[in-house]
Amino acid sequence: MPMSSLGSAAQPLRVAIIGAGPAGFYAAERLFKETDLVIEVDLFDRLPTPFGLVRNGVAPDHQKIKSVTAAFDRIAANPRFRFFGNVELGRDISVDDLKNYYHQIIYSTGAQTDRPLDIPGDDLIGSHPATEFVAWYNGHPDYRDCVFDLSQESVAVIGVGNVAIDVARILCRTPDELMKTDIADYALEQLRESRVREVHILGRRGPAQAAFSAPEVKELGELADCDTTVPPEEAELDPLSQASLAGADRAELRKVEIIQELSHHKPTGKAKQLILRFLVSPVELIGDENGHVKQMRLVHNVLYATDAGSLRSKPTDQFETLDVGLVFRSIGYRGVPLPGVPFNDSWGVIPNAGGRVLDPATHEPLLGQYTTGWIKRGPTGVIGTNKPDAAETVDNMIADARAGRVLSPTQPAAAAVEALVRDRQPEVVTFADWQRLNTLELSRGKEQGRPRVKFTSVADMLAALGK
Ligand code: NAP
Repeated sequence: MPMSSLGSAAQPLRVAIIGAGPAGFYAAERLFKETDLVIEVDLFDRLPTPFGLVRNGVAPDHQKIKSVTAAFDRIAANPRFRFFGNVELGRDISVDDLKNYYHQIIYSTGAQTDRPLDIPGDDLIGSHPATEFVAWYNGHPDYRDCVFDLSQESVAVIGVGNVAIDVARILCRTPDELMKTDIADYALEQLRESRVREVHILGRRGPAQAAFSAPEVKELGELADCDTTVPPEEAELDPLSQASLAGADRAELRKVEIIQELSHHKPTGKAKQLILRFLVSPVELIGDENGHVKQMRLVHNVLYATDAGSLRSKPTDQFETLDVGLVFRSIGYRGVPLPGVPFNDSWGVIPNAGGRVLDPATHEPLLGQYTTGWIKRGPTGVIGTNKPDAAETVDNMIADARAGRVLSPTQPAAAAVEALVRDRQPEVVTFADWQRLNTLELSRGKEQGRPRVKFTSVADMLAALGK
């Protein structure tokens, strides 16, 4: 393909992005910043709705964070942008199909599953990945039918990342607090009936190593009808942690300060108790005669420094048993392989160099294939982290395009791929369709004095659109 014309109005550079979460949108935004090239972007998602984890992951009581969708709407308003929702790679369309229609393909499918814990009993009834609970309360169509036994009084959340905090906070909010959110309507009803009274969040290392951020832990101390406490002896810093904080930034120091403030809290008689623990690891879940989790055995840990200087936990010979009827393991998300796309199974990511997908056999870049977001770098960082990440990928894509290193699609016309998509998935959802759904959700919310009432099944979404 002569490079003189690729990227011109007559021959736009055609890009497919698979996965319409923040990473996909930021990649589109960066592509559109290349104003000397004419670039057309088709953004695909297996769900009819865009925005990925902003819709299905960000906690419903963090509505402000969700307002980032206004920026995504502006990207989608570009006349060279199209959304193909309800179209799944591997089900409706393949990588080989895409190669016939696009010069470049970006995979931005995030991390859709959880990391396993691998302790005895973690498959008992009542033991769940936190990721499933998050997707359930956010109304993700694939998780709306999950069952969580909220008749249990005592719950453990394993891990001290921001997801663990979200899960614990949602369990400890009052129905009035939840009413002000866009939590799925069925989750609101079930949480209204919840008998959960005690939530234990379990960190295997100390306060200085907690993965959550300062504002998130501070919020735990401000819940309407829940007392949050930290056992004072677990809030104390050991000498290794004290030394590690010498070079820490303000946010890290503030986080430890907040934990220590919480350790001075005394319960004030609120209906629920949230207990933030440190230096404990679950070693076994114990079930009752029906195979339902009833207890968790914990080992107390101490910290040690590795040769590289990082602080890790190691078990002592001190154990304790916690009575819990519901367990959420919140120890990180994990990417899943995409059909026809290389995958590094140990890291749960697509092998890549600066976003260029690598051939696992040769470790050389595969022509025209790129990745960004969690499926590129692993499940770390906040929504904004995806912006520089997408910039790195897109800058490499533009360098490749300028050097003529692109796929050679046989049918590069925008109309050609639309015909294929409509043939494979007649119920494709466009961005205009999504905007109609969005308006309906907002007006359903208004009727109930809530920010939004979501459609939570694909069938309901399609029916609302008259498809
Ligand atoms: P994360 O931040 O990586 O936290 C994972 C937690 O699991 C860590 O505390 C980790 O402890 C612990 N863990 C891992 N393996 C364990 C094991 N075998 N036993 C016990 N504990 C174990 O992951 P995340 O909470 O899923 O969050 C993912 C990303 O989304 C993060 O970057 C997070 O900040 C972001 N996020 C942000 C927000 C927000 O900004 N409000 C909300 C949600 C998520 P170690 O440190 O000891 O490994």
